[in-house]
Amino acid sequence: MQPHRARKRFGQNFLQDTRIIADIVHAVRPAENDVVIEIGPGLAAITAPLCAKLNRLHVCEIDRDIIAYLKQQPFADKLEIYEGDVLQFDFRSISGSKKIVGNLPYNISTPLLFKLSEVADEVIDMHFMLQKEVVERMVALPESNDYGRLSVMLQYFFEMEMLIDVPPESFDPAPKVNSAVVRMIPQKGRIGTAEDFCHFAGLVKQAFHQRRKTLRNNLKGWANDDDLQAAGISPQQRAEAVAPEKYVLLSNYLIRKQKD
Ligand code: SAM
Repeated sequence: MQPHRARKRFGQNFLQDTRIIADIVHAVRPAENDVVIEIGPGLAAITAPLCAKLNRLHVCEIDRDIIAYLKQQPFADKLEIYEGDVLQFDFRSISGSKKIVGNLPYNISTPLLFKLSEVADEVIDMHFMLQKEVVERMVALPESNDYGRLSVMLQYFFEMEMLIDVPPESFDPAPKVNSAVVRMIPQKGRIGTAEDFCHFAGLVKQAFHQRRKTLRNNLKGWANDDDLQAAGISPQQRAEAVAPEKYVLLSNYLIRKQKD
């Protein structure tokens, strides 16, 4: 078989730093019978050591040449391979509480994280390698430049922690940006429960529509000054100053007001 040439369109940057690989597997803590799904196994940098600890590993990969490569590996009999785009993959088709792992293709990381939020109720934990800048946005607290819609929406579902800093030279080919590994653990209700999730998601999107504007302006048509104050928000505040739980409070307040 020809050596695989990394495909840019599939975000292929293959991990080659054995210490980082060992740190990721250690963080995942796979136990033999765990239901583990790896997104984008590539040339098996993480796949092989995971298979050494697991009876079975589900992998989702889009690149056919890579799938052919995986099928020839000594651990192939442990793999359950799903060929195709992970954005189309039905995570609920694999039964049981799952651990999800991946050195993710950076070009699809945001839509993928939103998709995974929808199955958070079936997830034990997730460990992902992402662009460091994205991880910083995920874990950001209010009043910081990195805090935004992604922070609020993911913090609604998950407790998150940046675990490992990964420099470009840990990959082949080396990406232009720094990377980091993040742990995400679902935590239902950690910032409250939105009575109407779609309303909450729409409200957060609208609040951050123009970052430099006040919430009074961004939320015109959604909430008036009294509504904002009822949720403990000052109308002059900007979206980036408001904690995730206050968006839940405001959404629930508006939903109840509509019903009255
Ligand atoms: N896990 C390997 C590693 O750590 O070296 C490869 C990581 S590489 C950054 C991303 C992998 O995801 C590649 O194998 C790529 O082919 C695969 N991939 C890219 N887009 C995908 C998609 N939409 N669905 C499934 N896999 C995808």
